[in-house]
Amino acid sequence: MKKILFVNMCGHGHVNPTIGLINELMNRGEQVTYIAGEEFRNKIEKTGAKFKGYNNSFDIANLVNENLNLENSESLLNFIDIFKKIIEILFNSKEKFDYIIYDSVFMLGNEVGRVLKIPAICSITTFAANERTNCLSSLFNKIEPKIQELLNSSEYINFVKYSQEKYGIKCPSASNVIFGKGMISIVYTSKYFQLCGESFDESYKFIGPSISDRKEDISFPLETNDKKKVIYISLGTIFNNSIEFYENCFKAFDNMDAKIIMSVGKNIDVNTFKSIPSNFIIRNYVPQLEILKHADVFITHGGMNSTNEGLYYDVPLILIPQFIDQPAVANRVAELGAGIVIEKDKVTPEVLKQSVVRILSDNNFKINSKKIGKSLREAGGYKKGVDEILNLINKKSSLFT
Ligand code: UDP
Repeated sequence: MKKILFVNMCGHGHVNPTIGLINELMNRGEQVTYIAGEEFRNKIEKTGAKFKGYNNSFDIANLVNENLNLENSESLLNFIDIFKKIIEILFNSKEKFDYIIYDSVFMLGNEVGRVLKIPAICSITTFAANERTNCLSSLFNKIEPKIQELLNSSEYINFVKYSQEKYGIKCPSASNVIFGKGMISIVYTSKYFQLCGESFDESYKFIGPSISDRKEDISFPLETNDKKKVIYISLGTIFNNSIEFYENCFKAFDNMDAKIIMSVGKNIDVNTFKSIPSNFIIRNYVPQLEILKHADVFITHGGMNSTNEGLYYDVPLILIPQFIDQPAVANRVAELGAGIVIEKDKVTPEVLKQSVVRILSDNNFKINSKKIGKSLREAGGYKKGVDEILNLINKKSSLFT
């Protein structure tokens, strides 16, 4: 039995794929201590892992707007504050760990591994990136100055000084952050769906989405005996506040003989919608994996997790990318023929309706979704992820003792 330290940052999209992985690690006798924002306590404790939370004052939607302009320097400070909180939890703990698994956003993960003399494994919840993934380069060209800005800020420099002096941690360069990888890196998609999949070395383990029982309750009936088509709509958990978008959906589908399930995110009060068509079920958060098993079309923001989850269940997609990696993800789906991309400022009720009709009437979308879905299911999921992690640990632990 080995002791694992799991460090996560950011939202559900970074935490959800790790749930299956930590369940499986514990089933195989490993002990997991999981550090993440307090809001994930319930989700993580349900798995039986030991949870150490920090107060998560950082919200990426407050830090930058959708064009990646710095909106709010206070959020930048919150971001640094979280690094500090994590480092303190890590180093003030009396526990000794055998290895660390860290989300790629926690860019100090490798350094923590080096200082603690334990193997470091990276968990990548978007596409992996290297010099060949050109489609991501426009994103990185935009992000790199932001990361540089973060790395050059006096708050970060003070933090670097503090963590170097107190804990011996050296902070990485911007390119390390972007192309960051661990001794191995767990990527939650298939090599087929990954951009330039063949260009990644063996240390990248493409395990597909980590689909597991999230132990979430369903508060409405999902089975449709009436053979009505099911359309599922969600813009994910971060950039999901567009009332206008949801109202466009009402207009697009209110006369359609279909069941529409719409997740609107935690910041919208569902009661503020004036008139909700009778074929809609609206919630702030829904058990997405359960719904996807029944869905005929998924209208998504193209978040990496939602996209992989939809395709895992062979569901064709309509993608309305909002931010960060989503345009690259959406274009990849369209390139492989499994969905339609709509630019977010071109969304109208007519375009939404036409896109759904097109998806439902052209079987090629379904055929291509199934092809990606097969690659995702065959990638092995969390079981394969744990095989790879334990393989590495069994090989490497002797090097660190
Ligand atoms: N999710 C969910 N129910 C919801 C909305 C989202 O279970 O009502 C989950 C979804 O299954 C996925 C994650 O939240 O695992 C969203 O991650 P994604 O990368 O798609 O988008 P993000 O929220 O990071 O923008």
